[in-house]
Amino acid sequence: MRMTTAWGTDGDSKVLRQVRLRRRNLRPDDIAVRVDYCGVCHTDVHSLDAHAEGLLVPGHEFTGVVTEVGSEVTRFTVGDPVAVGNIVDSCGVCAMCEAGQENFCREFPTLTYGGTDRHDGSTTSGGYAREYVVRDQFAYRLPAGLDPAAVAPLLCAGITVWEPLRSLGVGKGTRVAVAGLGGLGHLAVKFAVALGAETTVISRTADKTADARRLGVEDVVVSADAEQMAAARDRFDVVIDTISAPHDIGPYLGLVAVDGTLSHLGHLGPVTVRMTDLLVGRKKLTSAGSGGRPSTAAMLDFCAEHGITADVEVLPSAQVNEALDRLRRNDVRYRFVLDLSDLSGSAA
Ligand SMILES: [Zn+2]
Ligand SMILES: [Zn+2]
Repeated sequence: MRMTTAWGTDGDSKVLRQVRLRRRNLRPDDIAVRVDYCGVCHTDVHSLDAHAEGLLVPGHEFTGVVTEVGSEVTRFTVGDPVAVGNIVDSCGVCAMCEAGQENFCREFPTLTYGGTDRHDGSTTSGGYAREYVVRDQFAYRLPAGLDPAAVAPLLCAGITVWEPLRSLGVGKGTRVAVAGLGGLGHLAVKFAVALGAETTVISRTADKTADARRLGVEDVVVSADAEQMAAARDRFDVVIDTISAPHDIGPYLGLVAVDGTLSHLGHLGPVTVRMTDLLVGRKKLTSAGSGGRPSTAAMLDFCAEHGITADVEVLPSAQVNEALDRLRRNDVRYRFVLDLSDLSGSAA
């Protein structure tokens, strides 16, 4: 076993404290990563709120540098900058894995934290730590020229909006609306704009209008304004709903054009659907989350080509509890990233 330092909780406390953490010794196909930056995701807040016993170390979108490679690793060498997302292993042989959709693995992919390691049955601990040990197949080359702190959120928030945009064929001339301008939403906007879509933001208030314009959108619709919502009826081929709180999806289905799609990504609890909201206009309702290895690599290539990263507020990792509290209040534009250089305990 190797030891590192992390931010975790080992009871039902919602406050993270510094803990010593064991990482496994490298298997032949593992790499050790010195974690430099880790994004703070809504899932981390939900996991903390639901946590009751055992050690929880959150964090599942991070970047860093390879410090050691297993005996069979050929894709990476010591010193390579890498990125890791929210899944770190899968069965590798089911139809989903064969199709490059490891995120939908029939045996369920191994989650970066709170998951069960497929080999030793241990519970995985996440990237709020100075070191992570990961199967090399689930690490990605960090694109040169992009800020590693601002790349980190691409590995969860980014890929979660990238896969649906691509699978829905968003490109030049597609009319896209993004509901909710937060961690997921601001990346959905950047991707949609760079893909050539005519992009609109749907926001509860007009507060974020200037920001949305800066991100390249053509229009902003204020969802609290009934007149604006009525004027936008049936207007979009694709509506990407990234709102994290439970909400009525009826008004958003109303914005979808004939044969268009509402992709509901931000809130994964039960929703009520009036079938007539789909019937009128033959509309489709879908969801997505995380991404397979091929599309994650493709997203990073696209980001390198177009200079896309997340808008981040970087904090020393010692301020992790403040970051979580502010995220609970949606007080961030648009993603917190922890700088883990204030933790000791890496091989390098
Ligand atoms: Zn996440
Ligand atoms: Zn599988």
